[in-house]
Amino acid sequence: MLPLVALVGRPNVGKSTLFNALTRTRDALVHDQPGVTRDRHYGVCRPEGQRHFALVDTGGIAGEDEGLVGATTRQARAAATEADLVLFIVDGREGASAMDDEILAWLRKTARPTVLVVNKTDGIDTEAAINEFARYGIRDVVATSSAHRQGIDDLIDEIVARL
Ligand code: GDP
Ligand code: MG
Repeated sequence: MLPLVALVGRPNVGKSTLFNALTRTRDALVHDQPGVTRDRHYGVCRPEGQRHFALVDTGGIAGEDEGLVGATTRQARAAATEADLVLFIVDGREGASAMDDEILAWLRKTARPTVLVVNKTDGIDTEAAINEFARYGIRDVVATSSAHRQGIDDLIDEIVARL
């Protein structure tokens, strides 16, 4: 069985765009509207000459416990709990938000190995964007621009090194 990597993060940080970049598909629904991904979505990343791994794109992991949003939240949490590695994706342009803090607190409880992915770093000061999240205390950090396929190979190296 392939190791499983879960993409978690609040809506609109670029999880689905990253999923597509890693799987080289356009399978995951990318949308300007937050919360468009309702279901878990599985794919496989097959880097040349490196270990292959399965990926699960989740909807929002923080939020209500009731209704459709609640169902999405529960699914996302289940996905993260069963994963061998979690990619915690944040928006490098917006910096840390209350919802990011909430997700971090939850992730700490699951104690899954976690890589922080600071996405949307195209055209901004990458170093400063990363520093915004220094207080999260996550040692493994990769800056990406999923939309422009920047940092994806570095991220794959980081993932494979931890599987
Ligand atoms: P999700 O809700 O976390 O799955 O986010 P999506 O993948 O649907 O992306 C949300 C929005 O952010 C879309 O408009 C994307 O085009 C945009 N986006 C995603 N990645 C990047 C990036 O690296 N840079 C920029 N500038 N925009 C991005
Ligand atoms: Mg999505």
